Amino acid sequence: MSGQTIYADNAASTRLSAAAKAAMLPCFDLVYANPSAPHAMGRAAAAALTDARAQIAAALGCDPAELYFNSGGTEADAQALRTAAILGAQSGKRHIISTAFEHHAVLRTLDLLGQEGFEIELLAVPENGVVTAPQVAAAIRPDTCLVSVMFANNEIGTLQPVAEIGAVCRAAGVLFHTDAAQAAGQTPIDVRTQQIDLLSLSAHKFHGPKGVGALYARKGLCPVPLLAGGGQERGARPGTENLPGIVGMAAALAEATACLNETAAALTERRDWLIAGLSEIPQAVLNGDAERRLPGNVNFSFAGIEGEALLLLLDARGICASAGAACTAGAPEPSHVLLAIGRSPALARGALRLTLSADVTDAEIEAILRAVRETVALLRAAPGRNNQ
Ligand SMILES: *Cc1c(COP(=O)(O)O)cnc(C)c1O
Repeated sequence: MSGQTIYADNAASTRLSAAAKAAMLPCFDLVYANPSAPHAMGRAAAAALTDARAQIAAALGCDPAELYFNSGGTEADAQALRTAAILGAQSGKRHIISTAFEHHAVLRTLDLLGQEGFEIELLAVPENGVVTAPQVAAAIRPDTCLVSVMFANNEIGTLQPVAEIGAVCRAAGVLFHTDAAQAAGQTPIDVRTQQIDLLSLSAHKFHGPKGVGALYARKGLCPVPLLAGGGQERGARPGTENLPGIVGMAAALAEATACLNETAAALTERRDWLIAGLSEIPQAVLNGDAERRLPGNVNFSFAGIEGEALLLLLDARGICASAGAACTAGAPEPSHVLLAIGRSPALARGALRLTLSADVTDAEIEAILRAVRETVALLRAAPGRNNQ
Protein backbone atom coordinates (compact mmCIF):
# COMPACT_ATOMS: atom_id res chain seq x y z
CA MET A 1 0.00 0.00 0.00
CA SER A 2 0.97 3.66 -0.06
CA GLY A 3 3.41 5.01 2.47
CA GLN A 4 0.47 6.54 4.28
CA THR A 5 -1.18 3.24 5.08
CA ILE A 6 -0.17 1.09 8.02
CA TYR A 7 -1.29 -2.51 7.78
CA ALA A 8 -1.87 -4.05 11.22
CA ASP A 9 -4.46 -6.68 10.30
CA ASN A 10 -2.25 -9.67 9.54
CA ALA A 11 -4.49 -12.10 11.43
CA ALA A 12 -7.14 -11.39 8.78
CA SER A 13 -4.78 -11.87 5.86
CA THR A 14 -1.18 -11.18 4.89
CA ARG A 15 0.80 -9.81 1.98
CA LEU A 16 1.96 -12.50 -0.44
CA SER A 17 5.67 -13.00 0.20
CA ALA A 18 8.10 -12.33 -2.63
CA ALA A 19 9.31 -15.94 -2.43
CA ALA A 20 5.75 -17.28 -2.73
CA LYS A 21 5.01 -14.99 -5.64
CA ALA A 22 8.21 -15.99 -7.45
CA ALA A 23 7.44 -19.67 -6.93
CA MET A 24 3.91 -19.22 -8.27
CA LEU A 25 4.69 -17.31 -11.46
CA PRO A 26 5.98 -20.29 -13.54
CA CYS A 27 2.73 -22.13 -12.69
CA PHE A 28 0.79 -19.58 -14.72
CA ASP A 29 2.74 -19.57 -17.97
CA LEU A 30 4.96 -22.67 -17.95
CA VAL A 31 3.80 -25.38 -15.55
CA TYR A 32 0.10 -25.01 -16.26
CA ALA A 33 -0.86 -28.51 -17.35
CA ASN A 34 -3.14 -30.68 -15.26
CA PRO A 35 -1.01 -32.64 -12.75
CA SER A 36 -3.06 -35.74 -13.56
CA ALA A 37 -2.29 -35.53 -17.30
CA PRO A 38 -0.12 -38.37 -18.64
CA HIS A 39 2.20 -36.26 -20.77
CA ALA A 40 5.46 -34.37 -20.23
CA MET A 41 3.81 -31.14 -19.13
CA GLY A 42 1.44 -33.00 -16.85
CA ARG A 43 4.40 -34.78 -15.31
CA ALA A 44 6.12 -31.43 -14.75
CA ALA A 45 3.02 -30.17 -12.94
CA ALA A 46 2.81 -33.39 -10.90
CA ALA A 47 6.48 -32.97 -9.96
CA ALA A 48 5.84 -29.41 -8.76
CA LEU A 49 2.95 -30.73 -6.67
CA THR A 50 5.17 -33.43 -5.18
CA ASP A 51 7.86 -30.88 -4.32
CA ALA A 52 5.33 -28.60 -2.64
CA ARG A 53 3.92 -31.49 -0.63
CA ALA A 54 7.41 -32.43 0.56
CA GLN A 55 8.16 -28.83 1.58
CA ILE A 56 4.98 -28.53 3.64
CA ALA A 57 5.49 -31.96 5.19
CA ALA A 58 8.98 -30.91 6.27
CA ALA A 59 7.61 -27.76 7.91
CA LEU A 60 5.03 -29.73 9.92
CA GLY A 61 7.13 -32.82 10.65
CA CYS A 62 4.73 -35.15 8.86
CA ASP A 63 4.85 -37.50 5.91
CA PRO A 64 3.90 -36.00 2.52
CA ALA A 65 1.22 -38.69 2.19
CA GLU A 66 -0.48 -37.27 5.28
CA LEU A 67 -1.32 -33.96 3.55
CA TYR A 68 -4.50 -33.16 1.62
CA PHE A 69 -4.60 -29.87 -0.27
CA ASN A 70 -7.83 -27.89 -0.28
CA SER A 71 -9.30 -24.38 -0.41
CA GLY A 72 -8.18 -23.18 3.02
CA GLY A 73 -8.75 -23.22 6.75
CA THR A 74 -12.53 -23.34 6.60
CA GLU A 75 -12.55 -26.45 4.45
CA ALA A 76 -9.80 -28.15 6.46
CA ASP A 77 -11.73 -27.56 9.70
CA ALA A 78 -14.95 -28.93 8.22
CA GLN A 79 -13.25 -32.02 6.84
CA ALA A 80 -11.28 -32.71 10.01
CA LEU A 81 -14.34 -32.51 12.25
CA ARG A 82 -16.55 -34.54 9.89
CA THR A 83 -13.91 -37.23 9.50
CA ALA A 84 -13.49 -37.68 13.24
CA ALA A 85 -17.25 -37.56 13.81
CA ILE A 86 -18.02 -40.20 11.19
CA LEU A 87 -15.25 -42.48 12.46
CA GLY A 88 -16.52 -42.01 16.01
CA ALA A 89 -20.12 -42.75 15.10
CA GLN A 90 -18.99 -46.02 13.53
CA SER A 91 -18.00 -47.20 16.99
CA GLY A 92 -20.91 -45.56 18.80
CA LYS A 93 -18.90 -42.54 20.00
CA ARG A 94 -20.78 -39.30 19.50
CA HIS A 95 -19.30 -36.94 22.11
CA ILE A 96 -17.10 -34.11 20.78
CA ILE A 97 -15.08 -31.72 22.94
CA SER A 98 -14.03 -28.29 21.73
CA THR A 99 -13.79 -24.79 23.20
CA ALA A 100 -16.01 -21.73 23.32
CA PHE A 101 -13.48 -19.53 21.51
CA GLU A 102 -12.83 -21.51 18.35
CA HIS A 103 -13.04 -19.94 14.90
CA HIS A 104 -16.53 -19.97 13.39
CA ALA A 105 -15.36 -22.54 10.82
CA VAL A 106 -15.13 -24.97 13.75
CA LEU A 107 -18.06 -23.70 15.83
CA ARG A 108 -20.54 -23.64 12.94
CA THR A 109 -19.48 -27.10 11.75
CA LEU A 110 -19.97 -28.35 15.32
CA ASP A 111 -23.47 -26.78 15.29
CA LEU A 112 -24.24 -28.84 12.20
CA LEU A 113 -22.84 -32.00 13.79
CA GLY A 114 -24.97 -31.24 16.85
CA GLN A 115 -28.06 -31.19 14.64
CA GLU A 116 -26.93 -34.52 13.22
CA GLY A 117 -26.99 -36.18 16.64
CA PHE A 118 -23.53 -35.54 18.04
CA GLU A 119 -23.16 -34.20 21.56
CA ILE A 120 -20.99 -31.08 21.48
CA GLU A 121 -19.28 -29.94 24.67
CA LEU A 122 -17.52 -26.57 24.54
CA LEU A 123 -14.95 -26.05 27.28
CA ALA A 124 -15.00 -22.74 29.10
CA VAL A 125 -11.94 -20.62 28.39
CA PRO A 126 -10.00 -19.25 31.38
CA GLU A 127 -9.64 -15.46 31.61
CA ASN A 128 -6.09 -15.58 30.21
CA GLY A 129 -7.33 -17.24 27.04
CA VAL A 130 -5.39 -20.47 27.55
CA VAL A 131 -7.31 -23.74 27.83
CA THR A 132 -5.54 -26.38 29.95
CA ALA A 133 -4.82 -30.06 29.34
CA PRO A 134 -6.42 -31.04 32.71
CA GLN A 135 -9.64 -29.33 31.52
CA VAL A 136 -9.58 -31.52 28.44
CA ALA A 137 -8.72 -34.66 30.45
CA ALA A 138 -11.63 -34.05 32.82
CA ALA A 139 -14.08 -33.71 29.94
CA ILE A 140 -13.07 -36.90 28.08
CA ARG A 141 -15.62 -39.73 28.40
CA PRO A 142 -15.70 -43.29 27.07
CA ASP A 143 -17.87 -42.08 24.18
CA THR A 144 -15.66 -39.10 23.22
CA CYS A 145 -14.51 -39.36 19.61
CA LEU A 146 -12.78 -36.01 19.10
CA VAL A 147 -11.10 -33.11 20.86
CA SER A 148 -10.69 -29.95 18.77
CA VAL A 149 -8.67 -27.12 20.32
CA MET A 150 -7.15 -24.37 18.20
CA PHE A 151 -3.36 -23.92 18.19
CA ALA A 152 -3.56 -20.12 18.51
CA ASN A 153 -6.66 -17.99 18.82
CA ASN A 154 -7.30 -15.67 15.89
CA GLU A 155 -8.57 -12.73 17.97
CA ILE A 156 -6.46 -12.68 21.12
CA GLY A 157 -3.52 -14.70 19.79
CA THR A 158 -3.23 -16.96 22.83
CA LEU A 159 -1.23 -20.15 22.31
CA GLN A 160 -2.79 -23.33 23.60
CA PRO A 161 -0.79 -26.15 25.26
CA VAL A 162 -1.16 -28.29 22.17
CA ALA A 163 1.48 -30.91 23.04
CA GLU A 164 -0.04 -31.46 26.50
CA ILE A 165 -3.54 -31.74 25.06
CA GLY A 166 -2.20 -34.09 22.39
CA ALA A 167 -0.68 -36.32 25.06
CA VAL A 168 -3.95 -36.43 27.01
CA CYS A 169 -5.91 -37.36 23.87
CA ARG A 170 -3.43 -39.97 22.68
CA ALA A 171 -3.44 -41.65 26.11
CA ALA A 172 -7.26 -41.73 26.07
CA GLY A 173 -7.46 -42.99 22.48
CA VAL A 174 -9.35 -39.89 21.34
CA LEU A 175 -8.60 -38.09 18.07
CA PHE A 176 -7.10 -34.61 18.44
CA HIS A 177 -7.67 -31.87 15.86
CA THR A 178 -6.08 -28.45 16.03
CA ASP A 179 -6.86 -25.44 13.84
CA ALA A 180 -3.37 -24.08 13.18
CA ALA A 181 -4.43 -21.39 10.71
CA GLN A 182 -2.96 -18.65 12.92
CA ALA A 183 -0.08 -20.64 14.35
CA ALA A 184 1.56 -21.98 11.20
CA GLY A 185 4.67 -20.05 10.27
CA GLN A 186 4.58 -18.13 13.55
CA THR A 187 5.21 -20.76 16.20
CA PRO A 188 6.90 -24.20 15.93
CA ILE A 189 4.68 -27.07 14.82
CA ASP A 190 5.67 -30.72 14.92
CA VAL A 191 2.70 -33.02 14.55
CA ARG A 192 4.63 -36.05 15.84
CA THR A 193 5.96 -34.67 19.12
CA GLN A 194 2.78 -32.64 19.66
CA GLN A 195 0.71 -35.81 19.03
CA ILE A 196 -1.69 -34.13 16.62
CA ASP A 197 -3.99 -36.35 14.54
CA LEU A 198 -5.65 -33.69 12.38
CA LEU A 199 -4.44 -30.14 11.66
CA SER A 200 -5.83 -27.28 9.55
CA LEU A 201 -3.69 -24.86 7.54
CA SER A 202 -4.56 -21.70 5.61
CA ALA A 203 -1.89 -20.26 3.30
CA HIS A 204 -3.02 -16.63 3.34
CA LYS A 205 -2.34 -16.36 7.08
CA PHE A 206 1.39 -16.96 6.58
CA HIS A 207 2.11 -14.83 3.51
CA GLY A 208 0.87 -17.41 1.02
CA PRO A 209 -1.99 -16.92 -1.45
CA LYS A 210 -5.70 -16.89 -0.57
CA GLY A 211 -8.07 -19.75 -1.28
CA VAL A 212 -5.61 -22.55 -0.58
CA GLY A 213 -4.85 -24.61 2.47
CA ALA A 214 -4.25 -28.14 3.65
CA LEU A 215 -5.50 -30.76 6.02
CA TYR A 216 -2.94 -32.96 7.73
CA ALA A 217 -4.41 -36.32 8.73
CA ARG A 218 -2.22 -38.84 10.54
CA LYS A 219 -1.42 -42.02 8.63
CA GLY A 220 -4.30 -44.46 8.79
CA LEU A 221 -6.88 -41.69 9.10
CA CYS A 222 -8.56 -41.26 5.72
CA PRO A 223 -10.29 -37.88 5.45
CA VAL A 224 -13.95 -38.29 4.51
CA PRO A 225 -14.47 -36.40 1.22
CA LEU A 226 -16.82 -33.42 1.41
CA LEU A 227 -17.22 -33.42 -2.40
CA ALA A 228 -17.66 -36.08 -5.04
CA GLY A 229 -15.61 -36.08 -8.23
CA GLY A 230 -12.21 -37.15 -9.49
CA GLY A 231 -9.63 -39.05 -7.50
CA GLN A 232 -7.33 -36.15 -6.60
CA GLU A 233 -5.72 -36.10 -3.16
CA ARG A 234 -6.19 -39.88 -2.89
CA GLY A 235 -9.93 -39.44 -3.30
CA ALA A 236 -10.21 -37.23 -0.20
CA ARG A 237 -10.46 -33.96 -2.12
CA PRO A 238 -11.62 -34.22 -5.73
CA GLY A 239 -11.06 -31.34 -8.16
CA THR A 240 -8.03 -30.26 -10.19
CA GLU A 241 -5.32 -29.17 -7.82
CA ASN A 242 -4.74 -25.42 -7.37
CA LEU A 243 -1.10 -25.77 -8.37
CA PRO A 244 -0.11 -22.07 -8.23
CA GLY A 245 -1.76 -21.81 -4.82
CA ILE A 246 -0.19 -24.97 -3.48
CA VAL A 247 3.28 -24.03 -4.76
CA GLY A 248 2.88 -20.55 -3.25
CA MET A 249 1.72 -22.00 0.06
CA ALA A 250 4.73 -24.31 0.20
CA ALA A 251 7.21 -21.51 -0.55
CA ALA A 252 5.58 -19.22 2.02
CA LEU A 253 5.57 -21.86 4.75
CA ALA A 254 9.15 -22.91 4.01
CA GLU A 255 10.28 -19.30 4.23
CA ALA A 256 8.31 -18.56 7.40
CA THR A 257 9.60 -21.73 9.03
CA ALA A 258 13.21 -21.04 8.07
CA CYS A 259 13.21 -17.63 9.76
CA LEU A 260 10.63 -18.37 12.44
CA ASN A 261 12.79 -17.59 15.48
CA GLU A 262 14.21 -14.44 13.98
CA THR A 263 10.81 -13.10 12.91
CA ALA A 264 9.21 -14.06 16.21
CA ALA A 265 11.89 -12.22 18.17
CA ALA A 266 11.47 -9.05 16.11
CA LEU A 267 7.67 -9.18 16.27
CA THR A 268 7.61 -9.92 19.99
CA GLU A 269 9.69 -6.84 20.67
CA ARG A 270 7.27 -4.61 18.74
CA ARG A 271 4.23 -6.38 20.17
CA ASP A 272 5.43 -5.77 23.73
CA TRP A 273 6.20 -2.15 22.89
CA LEU A 274 2.61 -1.71 21.69
CA ILE A 275 1.23 -3.53 24.73
CA ALA A 276 3.26 -1.36 27.10
CA GLY A 277 2.24 1.84 25.32
CA LEU A 278 -1.47 1.00 25.07
CA SER A 279 -1.54 -0.16 28.72
CA GLU A 280 -0.89 3.47 29.69
CA ILE A 281 -4.29 4.49 28.30
CA PRO A 282 -6.75 4.73 31.22
CA GLN A 283 -9.12 1.76 31.51
CA ALA A 284 -7.37 -0.25 28.84
CA VAL A 285 -7.50 -4.00 29.35
CA LEU A 286 -5.22 -6.42 27.50
CA ASN A 287 -7.21 -9.38 26.19
CA GLY A 288 -5.37 -12.69 26.48
CA ASP A 289 -2.22 -13.74 28.30
CA ALA A 290 0.61 -11.21 27.99
CA GLU A 291 3.25 -13.84 27.16
CA ARG A 292 1.53 -16.94 25.85
CA ARG A 293 0.38 -15.26 22.66
CA LEU A 294 1.39 -15.03 19.03
CA PRO A 295 4.41 -12.79 18.51
CA GLY A 296 2.45 -10.27 16.44
CA ASN A 297 -0.89 -10.15 18.30
CA VAL A 298 -2.13 -7.21 20.39
CA ASN A 299 -5.76 -7.07 21.56
CA PHE A 300 -7.08 -4.43 23.95
CA SER A 301 -10.50 -3.41 25.21
CA PHE A 302 -11.06 0.24 26.07
CA ALA A 303 -13.88 0.88 28.51
CA GLY A 304 -16.55 3.25 27.24
CA ILE A 305 -15.50 2.98 23.60
CA GLU A 306 -17.26 1.43 20.64
CA GLY A 307 -14.66 -0.60 18.75
CA GLU A 308 -16.34 0.15 15.43
CA ALA A 309 -16.01 3.90 15.98
CA LEU A 310 -12.38 3.50 16.98
CA LEU A 311 -11.69 1.47 13.83
CA LEU A 312 -13.33 4.03 11.57
CA LEU A 313 -11.26 6.85 13.00
CA LEU A 314 -8.06 4.81 12.84
CA ASP A 315 -8.90 3.92 9.24
CA ALA A 316 -9.28 7.63 8.48
CA ARG A 317 -5.74 8.03 9.81
CA GLY A 318 -4.48 5.29 7.50
CA ILE A 319 -4.32 2.50 10.06
CA CYS A 320 -5.82 -0.86 9.07
CA ALA A 321 -6.80 -2.71 12.23
CA SER A 322 -9.68 -4.89 13.39
CA ALA A 323 -12.19 -5.24 16.20
CA GLY A 324 -11.71 -8.99 16.22
CA ALA A 325 -12.32 -11.55 13.54
CA ALA A 326 -12.46 -10.17 10.00
CA CYS A 327 -15.54 -12.24 9.24
CA THR A 328 -17.55 -10.59 12.02
CA ALA A 329 -16.55 -7.01 11.15
CA GLY A 330 -19.63 -4.83 10.91
CA ALA A 331 -21.68 -7.26 13.00
CA PRO A 332 -23.22 -5.64 16.05
CA GLU A 333 -22.74 -8.66 18.32
CA PRO A 334 -19.74 -8.56 20.62
CA SER A 335 -16.94 -11.05 19.91
CA HIS A 336 -17.68 -14.59 21.14
CA VAL A 337 -13.98 -14.91 21.95
CA LEU A 338 -13.98 -11.93 24.32
CA LEU A 339 -17.23 -13.05 25.93
CA ALA A 340 -15.69 -16.53 26.35
CA ILE A 341 -12.78 -15.11 28.38
CA GLY A 342 -15.27 -13.31 30.59
CA ARG A 343 -15.27 -9.78 29.20
CA SER A 344 -18.55 -7.89 29.63
CA PRO A 345 -20.49 -7.25 26.39
CA ALA A 346 -19.57 -3.55 26.71
CA LEU A 347 -15.84 -4.26 27.03
CA ALA A 348 -16.07 -6.85 24.26
CA ARG A 349 -17.51 -4.17 21.99
CA GLY A 350 -14.64 -1.84 22.79
CA ALA A 351 -11.95 -4.13 21.41
CA LEU A 352 -9.09 -3.30 19.09
CA ARG A 353 -6.95 -6.01 17.49
CA LEU A 354 -3.60 -5.03 15.99
CA THR A 355 -1.74 -7.88 14.30
CA LEU A 356 1.77 -7.24 13.05
CA SER A 357 3.97 -8.67 10.36
CA ALA A 358 7.68 -8.18 9.83
CA ASP A 359 6.74 -5.36 7.43
CA VAL A 360 5.63 -3.08 10.29
CA THR A 361 8.37 -0.59 11.14
CA ASP A 362 9.30 1.12 14.40
CA ALA A 363 8.02 4.42 13.00
CA GLU A 364 4.69 2.73 12.28
CA ILE A 365 4.47 1.39 15.84
CA GLU A 366 4.98 4.96 17.09
CA ALA A 367 2.29 6.21 14.70
CA ILE A 368 -0.15 3.51 15.85
CA LEU A 369 0.46 4.33 19.52
CA ARG A 370 -0.08 8.02 18.92
CA ALA A 371 -3.23 7.46 16.85
CA VAL A 372 -4.84 5.05 19.32
CA ARG A 373 -4.10 7.27 22.31
CA GLU A 374 -5.54 10.34 20.59
CA THR A 375 -8.55 8.54 19.13
CA VAL A 376 -9.56 6.88 22.39
CA ALA A 377 -9.29 10.25 24.15
CA LEU A 378 -11.33 11.91 21.39
CA LEU A 379 -14.10 9.30 21.57
CA ARG A 380 -14.23 9.48 25.35
CA ALA A 381 -14.51 13.26 25.21
CA ALA A 382 -17.22 13.23 22.52
CA PRO A 383 -20.53 14.57 23.81
CA GLY A 384 -23.54 12.26 23.67
CA ARG A 385 -21.51 9.07 23.60
CA ASN A 386 -22.96 6.04 25.31
CA ASN A 387 -21.62 5.91 28.82
CA GLN A 388 -20.97 2.32 29.77
C1 LIG B 1 -8.50 -17.58 8.86
C2 LIG B 1 -8.84 -18.69 9.77
C3 LIG B 1 -9.64 -19.77 9.33
C4 LIG B 1 -10.25 -19.80 7.95
O1 LIG B 1 -9.27 -19.94 6.96
P1 LIG B 1 -9.66 -19.58 5.43
O2 LIG B 1 -8.47 -20.06 4.66
O3 LIG B 1 -9.82 -18.10 5.37
O4 LIG B 1 -10.90 -20.34 5.12
C5 LIG B 1 -9.89 -20.78 10.22
N1 LIG B 1 -9.41 -20.76 11.46
C6 LIG B 1 -8.65 -19.76 11.92
C7 LIG B 1 -8.12 -19.80 13.31
C8 LIG B 1 -8.34 -18.69 11.08
O5 LIG B 1 -7.59 -17.69 11.56
